[in-house]
Amino acid sequence: MRVAVVSDIHGNLHALDAVLAAVDAERPDELWCLGDVVGYGPRPNECCETIARRADVSLVGNHDLGVLGHESLEAFADDAAAAARWTRDVLTEASRTFLEALAPVASREGVGLYHGSPRDPVWEYVLSAEVGVASLLAAPERLVLVGHSHVALEVGLDEGTVRGELAPPGTEVDLSSGRWLLNPGSVGQPRDGDPAAAFLLLDLRARRALFRRVPYPIERTQEEIRAAGLPESLAQRLGEGL
Ligand code: ZN
Repeated sequence: MRVAVVSDIHGNLHALDAVLAAVDAERPDELWCLGDVVGYGPRPNECCETIARRADVSLVGNHDLGVLGHESLEAFADDAAAAARWTRDVLTEASRTFLEALAPVASREGVGLYHGSPRDPVWEYVLSAEVGVASLLAAPERLVLVGHSHVALEVGLDEGTVRGELAPPGTEVDLSSGRWLLNPGSVGQPRDGDPAAAFLLLDLRARRALFRRVPYPIERTQEEIRAAGLPESLAQRLGEGL
């Protein structure tokens, strides 16, 4: 079984289209989405429609829940809260129905899927080896996938040895021994200094993972952010990957 994993699309349709074109070229058996399909970006409904149609498993993320009104926007930064309110206003009934049916946790093919972490599937950020190990120890699965931080990351725990590193494009991970936590990075708002859209390819039979990045027309999403009247900071950060 070969799987493409995406996360944190955040209403960035041009980034999602570029990733799905690269995914299609790999012909995986399934597509998994770790949540935050909406929030920040200007094309939430098209992203919901695409993920609803394409993904075999989808999680809900904290921004999705904020837009739905199930998480308070007080925990959000100002620009994130403004974008969540805008998204609420434009969200279609079909998008709402799709997001309402999702959970922040899933298990598939023996792999644990969490938007944030196994300890707190909605809110915890895994950004260090220390939190990665604590996450692995809290999960029943040997392989754990998380999103939420928008940073491509690999954390391994093998016979007491801990390995935790950022995962730049082309990083390959041998999953055949030990336990692993992987974050594919973000499709629609990368924050690791690389503005290219991120995804992960998993080969569950060969026990290998490959971190990928694809360029997309960032200026088109930036134009749509400005045309929608969303905060300028959200357009700026896409160009910087921060
Ligand atoms: Zn996110």
